[in-house]
Amino acid sequence: GAGQGDLPTEIWEKVKNHPCYSEEAHHHYARMHVAVAPACNIQCNYCNRKYDCANESRPGVVSEKLSPEQAAKKVLAVASTIPQMTVLGIAGPGDPLANPEKTFKTFELISKTAPDIKLCLSTNGLTLPDHVDTIASYNVDHVTITINMVDPEIGAKIYPWVFYKHKRYTGIDAAKILTDRQLLGLEMLTARGILTKINSVMIPGINDQHLVEVNKAVKSRGAFLHNIMPLISAPEHGTVFGLNGQRGPTAQELKALQDSCEGEMNMMRHCRQCRADAVGLLGEDRSAEFTTDKIMAME
Ligand code: SF4
Ligand code: SF4
Repeated sequence: GAGQGDLPTEIWEKVKNHPCYSEEAHHHYARMHVAVAPACNIQCNYCNRKYDCANESRPGVVSEKLSPEQAAKKVLAVASTIPQMTVLGIAGPGDPLANPEKTFKTFELISKTAPDIKLCLSTNGLTLPDHVDTIASYNVDHVTITINMVDPEIGAKIYPWVFYKHKRYTGIDAAKILTDRQLLGLEMLTARGILTKINSVMIPGINDQHLVEVNKAVKSRGAFLHNIMPLISAPEHGTVFGLNGQRGPTAQELKALQDSCEGEMNMMRHCRQCRADAVGLLGEDRSAEFTTDKIMAME
């Protein structure tokens, strides 16, 4: 439901003004994403690399890529136009932590020019343990990790490869590295008091039953919210890399899974799977008002 629900008060204080974490706040506070992170270090079978990272974004959307300097300028322009702007997120179009220089340069610039804006980022988690100290040093409030499995056998059906420490891994080896790194990263964030949300993409016949186990694994490591998103297969946007003919879940299947995880921890049901350059209240897209041409023309 809306409001505090069963969140502990100290967590509620941190999230009540965050549109993505409080159903209440998402009517009143705005967020923006800046698309500064083009590269990715893993392959998800549901990804179509021509578009934004499907872990946080609707498939079939191409966001305008920005340099950290352009992004910082855009944040200032948006914050002066939309006073409810409280949160800046980096969510793609690839993996923010596969582009650490760009991601952290953006945070550095924004924390200097607009110190009141809360920072968040989303990641597939592969390099997360390497960056937890840097994330903490920029006072990043919230991190989202996309975790689709905790069993490498299932992972091998979702991830054809990961690129880790200069080497490409495939199959069960790849999925084992990924799950170990994701869970370690989650534990490290929890130990530093950084709020962590988990996104999972529900893929019928592949990880749908298994996500109840994922829910337990992330809850026991301190995640405060679990957001189960439907796989969206959109054939008009081109072939999804490795899941030809794969359907997404029905609304009833999604709700049944969310209900079977409820009681385990807080579930998020209002995520809109925003584009990597979304601007405005959730459910509202004002990104067209803030294209690079328009921003650069504002002095
Ligand atoms: Fe695509 Fe997965 Fe990389 Fe996101 S994390 S850009 S969905 S391959
Ligand atoms: Fe919030 Fe979901 Fe949109 Fe991210 S994709 S900004 S979590 S509503």
